[in-house]
Amino acid sequence: MQMDSIQVASRRKGDRIILIANIFQILWIIWTSLRGIAALLYFIREKRFFLGLMIALVVLGAGIFFACIVAMLIRTEGELVKQLADLERSQRHFKTTVEEGVLEPGTWRCTCGRKNQDYVSTCACGKNKREVLLLNSKKE
Ligand SMILES: [Zn+2]
Repeated sequence: MQMDSIQVASRRKGDRIILIANIFQILWIIWTSLRGIAALLYFIREKRFFLGLMIALVVLGAGIFFACIVAMLIRTEGELVKQLADLERSQRHFKTTVEEGVLEPGTWRCTCGRKNQDYVSTCACGKNKREVLLLNSKKE
């Protein structure tokens, strides 16, 4: 199934959310690194280098952990938006297929996409006409 413009736009929205997640992660890690360095410098001035180093590592570790968790959640949201776009696309595609079948008298459209005349009881793909029409009416 080919993508349509609505699907492309929706998927782009998902990609934007994922991009925001990545930017957030990078910026947060930079910021947390600066805080770690600031803490280290403070304790070096106080002549307590090892305590400073320990605190800097804790700040860095907690900051990176937080950034990764939040970024992962935002990325998941982006993936969901993209999946929803695909799902909505197949719904639109299905609706169009059914409508096209209804709009043309004397023909029926198989699930494979082929258009058949009414007197054709079996599509070239092997599907039975009654079977297809029954399936379409159930889906609606
Ligand atoms: Zn067919």
